[in-house]
Amino acid sequence: MAYKCPRCSQPVQRGYSSTAQVAAGLVGALFYAAFGDFQCAKCGKIANHEFPPEVRTKMTMMSLILVVCAIAVAIGAFFLLAAMQ
Ligand SMILES: [Zn+2]
Repeated sequence: MAYKCPRCSQPVQRGYSSTAQVAAGLVGALFYAAFGDFQCAKCGKIANHEFPPEVRTKMTMMSLILVVCAIAVAIGAFFLLAAMQ
């Protein structure tokens, strides 16, 4: 998913946190990807409200999909653990 920086039109990336990944594994990483800030190589951190409304709508949809995936992974892991006991 490549969004454009509202300031310089360069592609921006999600700021991934290795700490969140270590702390909570895949689910934590997914949640961080859904709600983390964007990073522009030139401008640094970009707040969500700086993006145009149609881009923010798309981001919200992507965030919802990521959250659904995270919940599905959590439920899958739960049943896997339950089945192993
Ligand atoms: Zn920028």
